[in-house]
Amino acid sequence: MDQSTTVLFGLPGVRVDRVSTDDIGVRLVEFFTDDERAAACPGCGVVSTSVKGHAVTRPKDIPYGEVSILLQWTKTRWRCREEYCQRGSFTESVDELPPRARVTGRLGRAMGWAIGDAARSVSEVATSHGVSWPTAHRGFVDLAGRMLTEPDPVRVLGIDETRRGKPRWDRCTTTGTWVRTDPWDTGFVDISGSQGLLGQQSGRTSATVVGWLRARSAQFRDGIEYVAIDPAAVYASAVRTPDLLPNAVLVVDHFHLVAKANDAVTKVRQRVTWDQRSRRGRAIDPEWANRRRLLRGRERMSDRGFARMWNEIDAQDPSAQILSAYIAKEELRTLLSTVRDGGDRHRTSHRLQRFFTWCADSQVPELLTLAKMVDTWWPEINAFITTGITNAKTEGYNRLVKQVKRSACGFRNVDNSARRIRFHTTRSARASIQTSC
Ligand SMILES: [Zn+2]
Repeated sequence: MDQSTTVLFGLPGVRVDRVSTDDIGVRLVEFFTDDERAAACPGCGVVSTSVKGHAVTRPKDIPYGEVSILLQWTKTRWRCREEYCQRGSFTESVDELPPRARVTGRLGRAMGWAIGDAARSVSEVATSHGVSWPTAHRGFVDLAGRMLTEPDPVRVLGIDETRRGKPRWDRCTTTGTWVRTDPWDTGFVDISGSQGLLGQQSGRTSATVVGWLRARSAQFRDGIEYVAIDPAAVYASAVRTPDLLPNAVLVVDHFHLVAKANDAVTKVRQRVTWDQRSRRGRAIDPEWANRRRLLRGRERMSDRGFARMWNEIDAQDPSAQILSAYIAKEELRTLLSTVRDGGDRHRTSHRLQRFFTWCADSQVPELLTLAKMVDTWWPEINAFITTGITNAKTEGYNRLVKQVKRSACGFRNVDNSARRIRFHTTRSARASIQTSC
């Protein structure tokens, strides 16, 4: 076998001895170790010259063209003759085929990319390469371990929750009591840069967030200037933990606030229907027929469509609570749109007053609650209006996370799922590295 065939074969550290093809075109490649470091004892590093015997293994490899190839590796077992060495004997190995490897390094990586980037399920990849589930999964874990390193510092950090599945009850193995598993994860996203999902932690408590942040370096924590969250008290208190993020300003964006205002509109509509009709809404009720229009922004409606919605609901609801809620929602949207005027202070304070006055004068309980929420979170809302920082990117990652979870048919192991999701969602950041791997 000449040198060029060895190069073509492409496994460094081994020399091909013989290639034969069987009736159905499957190639058998027989090879020896060809690496002077392979005879060095892993215990003491001294190169051995005393052969103890030979061992033959058949590691799996990537297919050659359209047909699979079978590898047969004849390795030497060496004795270690150094007196001070604990190791009596050892079997040689090379980088691409470490001790006890069932697959070549390149097959492990190929399976790792298929699982991590193509989001194929582990069992499907294992079957297509004729290996076991743990072997395919190890290929991915090894690859992920090299690709997913500690995140670089970020200027704007996004924190958000995703639902992992249905709540589950498991029996604790030590105490025997039933424990409820929290089906929520907290995700940490690089909003200012391109690192994607930085990490994921199971649970959505203050301790979850503090735990993840404490595991990062002081340099990482000091570098965070803004943290974008939805208006959740547990996340805010975590970020405000003394000395945790000394330079961070909390931001709550329009996305979550408009969602809260929409909730208020829907609650008022449902309550008014119950008060007037003692039943749930039906298609014949004008407020029910207009339920989606009520949540739409005024600028996204035609004048005619708006007038029709207004007149129909006005005729039905003499207390005007539904339309009051609609106006409060639009006043809040106007206030948040000040971000487009560069957060002009006079305009902001004028619009905030108008929103508060409207909610207070309406005396609609749901609007008083909404106004109270805005009042509580005003410094963080104002931070959004002046900076325009938004958590919308986090929401995009949440969609991706759900997609990966679906393809994996649900995860039972939280660490495995976090690794898979992080690997998949950081694809764009890795695009340049992947070609060299
Ligand atoms: Zn030794």
